[in-house]
Amino acid sequence: MDLSVFATMESEVRSYVRAFPTVFDTAQGPILKDEEGREYIDFFCGAGTLNYGHNHPALQKSIIEYLSGNKIQHALDMATGVKKRFLELFRDVILEPRGLEYKLQFSGPTGANAVESAMKVARLATGRSTIVAFTHGYHGLSIGALAATANSWYRDAAGVGLNDVVFHPYDGYYGEDINTVALLRKHLEDPSSGLDLPAAVIVETVQGEGGVNVASDQWLRDLRELCTEKGIVLIVDDIQIGIGRSGKFFSFEHSGIVPDIVTLSKSISGYGFPMALVLIRPELDVWKPGMHTGTFRGNSIAFVGAARSLEEFWAGENNIESQIAHRSAMVVERLNAIAARHEGKFSVRGLGLLQGLVSEQNNDLASAISREAFKLGLVIETSGAHDEVVKVMPPLIGDDETLLKGLDRLEQAVDAALAA
Ligand code: PLP
Repeated sequence: MDLSVFATMESEVRSYVRAFPTVFDTAQGPILKDEEGREYIDFFCGAGTLNYGHNHPALQKSIIEYLSGNKIQHALDMATGVKKRFLELFRDVILEPRGLEYKLQFSGPTGANAVESAMKVARLATGRSTIVAFTHGYHGLSIGALAATANSWYRDAAGVGLNDVVFHPYDGYYGEDINTVALLRKHLEDPSSGLDLPAAVIVETVQGEGGVNVASDQWLRDLRELCTEKGIVLIVDDIQIGIGRSGKFFSFEHSGIVPDIVTLSKSISGYGFPMALVLIRPELDVWKPGMHTGTFRGNSIAFVGAARSLEEFWAGENNIESQIAHRSAMVVERLNAIAARHEGKFSVRGLGLLQGLVSEQNNDLASAISREAFKLGLVIETSGAHDEVVKVMPPLIGDDETLLKGLDRLEQAVDAALAA
């Protein structure tokens, strides 16, 4: 496969093309095909952007109809029929059945821009600047969001100070016995701790990029309680673990907490189109018109995919939660079997269909597994501070057979990497 034009033309910053060195061409459901016709099972799904697989026929049909109808494609944030449809469906299918009340802000189409918006509006609403983020957290790479992203690999590229964010240990950071929310409370209640009262706390319920670290429901409830008590805005970043990946539409539904602000992106458009959304508790919606604007907020095609995917996968009987639970159980069973077969080498952690096979002894092993998997026709990435976690993210829906085939390939890749 000739990749020379990418190497000569594209900036050194390119990344995934190095991990998966082929030229991809077509895709359907869980399968990607490259220009030579080679098939790959997708256990990566655009890092959570393709939760319903590639080119789902129902979404594709609506999108093609929309495209061929001379409909409005670009409208900044003017009112369009398709945006209206999305707003109504989001209210009727997602918010109202869950008893949630949020205003919707369409930020620029990246996750980072949703995070920027969330942090800005929390600061604006409270008149305070400090934001508490967590060890191993990932919230995007634009300067504001990068300030809340923990990994020094990314932080070192900022070139400016990354200010007004304080990092605090995530759940389990000091082991099971230390409740890090209790530590945060201690800091907040000690006038000499050096921690100013923050505007907000930003948290992922499961840290995807940070190594598939799962916060316990109780820890999240403690955090919610602390934020309520101290008047701190609780932002849940559901960009990677949201839209069904955890097993429910919102990941925070497992713990029963209600965040003040929620960021969504990645799979919200259903089809891989760029789209991001900030859900804001009405009292915190202190924006003045146009204060956080941008040319690409609310891409029509993204709205078509988003609206159709809510009907297709979340409305009433169509709810895919039981499918996700079934597929998640299959993945966890196999990962546990792999870990049992190679005693002491791996542990398994995750939620729903974001699962991690964690290399316990050798930080290079996960990347070696990902490389071997690619050779065997499986696209899968790594995450974690040392890239020590194989991150297993198959589509939320699809046939058992392909899922099992993908798990077989993963198991073979583990054997091949250990044998090398
Ligand atoms: N927040 C979380 C939890 C993410 O996983 C990501 C991306 O992986 C982002 C924010 C940033 O999203 P984007 O890459 O679209 O800017």
